[in-house]
Amino acid sequence: MKNIVIVGGGAGGLELATKLGNTLGKRKQANIHLVDANNTHLWKPLLHEVATGSLDSGIDELSYRAHAFNHRFTFHLGRMGNLDRDNKEIILSPMFDDNQQQVLPERRLQYDMLVMAVGSQTNDFGTPGAKEFCSFLDARSQADIFHKKLLNTYLKANNTASREGNFSLNIAIVGAGATGVELAAELHNTASELAAYGLDQLKKDQLKVTIIEAGERILPALPNRISDAAHRELSKLNIDVKTQTFVQEVTQDGFLTKEGKLIPAELKVWAAGVKAPDWMHNLGGLECNRVNQLVVKPSLQTTLDDSIFAIGDCSFMLQKDGTPVPPRAQAAHQQASHVYKNIVRINTNREPTDYIYKDMGSLVNLSRYSTVGSLMGNLSSGSMMVEGRIARLVYISLYRLHQVAVHGYTKTTLMTLSGRINKIIRPRLKLH
Ligand SMILES: Cc1cc2nc3c(=O)[nH]c(=O)nc-3n(C[C@H](O)[C@H](O)[C@H](O)COP(=O)(O)OP(=O)(O)OC[C@H]3O[C@@H](n4cnc5c(N)ncnc54)[C@H](O)[C@@H]3O)c2cc1C
Repeated sequence: MKNIVIVGGGAGGLELATKLGNTLGKRKQANIHLVDANNTHLWKPLLHEVATGSLDSGIDELSYRAHAFNHRFTFHLGRMGNLDRDNKEIILSPMFDDNQQQVLPERRLQYDMLVMAVGSQTNDFGTPGAKEFCSFLDARSQADIFHKKLLNTYLKANNTASREGNFSLNIAIVGAGATGVELAAELHNTASELAAYGLDQLKKDQLKVTIIEAGERILPALPNRISDAAHRELSKLNIDVKTQTFVQEVTQDGFLTKEGKLIPAELKVWAAGVKAPDWMHNLGGLECNRVNQLVVKPSLQTTLDDSIFAIGDCSFMLQKDGTPVPPRAQAAHQQASHVYKNIVRINTNREPTDYIYKDMGSLVNLSRYSTVGSLMGNLSSGSMMVEGRIARLVYISLYRLHQVAVHGYTKTTLMTLSGRINKIIRPRLKLH
């Protein structure tokens, strides 16, 4: 039986492994393997909610090993570090525990078909001090660390505010893309929830959240009117948006701009830019772009090797209009379905078909305050702006689509129901 190996069990990779396991794996037509660096999966667009405590990640996370058992694929815990194309093997780096004791040595896994789905990370563009002083939200572990840091910083600030009237807690985020904007709104919500739970010495106007953006406007990838609507909502929340502000250096005290001005911040988040991990640069001699993404043909096969596919944020595919498919969960979701069809076609000696990105629109969720975005019409009429309840429903439906692809309709309905129950029986905020 052929070995089909998927590396990365995120928005795209987990859906693909589940589909292949349920079909080819179940019928014993292929061995399906999923490799991930973590034991559990959490849908990445939820990370800012984990970071601010609005979401308890323990409830929504999925265990890869249990999921693999139920869906007829094999899970390998490990971090891919290299690729040996001559022998058709991926190389997993040795694994160490928290005390630096080796748990597993370097391992090799043979593939007949390989799908790279390792996602992306924020790009600090080598800005001095960014790695040292900023928090990043690329992985669940980082979101958990930020959450602890946020609670401790808030506790300290609340204590200081009880003694010093003119004290303020400054939090600054670099990058006014969806992550930065959504995080800022969530932080505002967290502050009012913490006040309700008794940390009320720090008054609303003493929390200063700033978004720093080098471009002319927030949400640069979205239409102007959505950007304007989101900006208005942020202003209502007293969130300071500094556009056309270029961060030159990060220090313990805050962000230094090109003009030499310091934007003070106790908590600093870097949420700008997207790049594939550095180890993917020239991986196995495959073609990649300047941000390490693997260049793929419309069939989603890499340009230099038909047995290797790449999907989601770690792939780069130019569309007919010359623009790349954007790094979004909806693209990863669509590409997982498309690669599934192409693998089945290739397995039955048929030619793979071309993938066409269907932009369903973009939505930005400003915590409980508002949701704004655009939905694409069926006709060539372009996009339609949506706000409020409808926008919120569509925003949630993107996650539900992922859950349905991974768990099926029945389990997703039960999970939705248990989510509702948890809202009643658990605190509104994760407080520990
Ligand atoms: C805070 C936040 C909010 C977002 N909001 C939205 C939104 O509202 N809408 C939207 O469309 N998109 C959103 N995005 C973007 C979206 O999350 C990504 O586009 C999407 O998750 C990409 O899917 P993927 O499958 O390519 O990678 P991911 O979902 O990132 O999955 C990658 C997987 O690969 C694993 N991995 C990484 N490196 C290795 C390795 N070396 N070896 C083995 N495994 C590895 C990781 O553990 C992970 O499980 C958001 C992103 C963030 C950070």
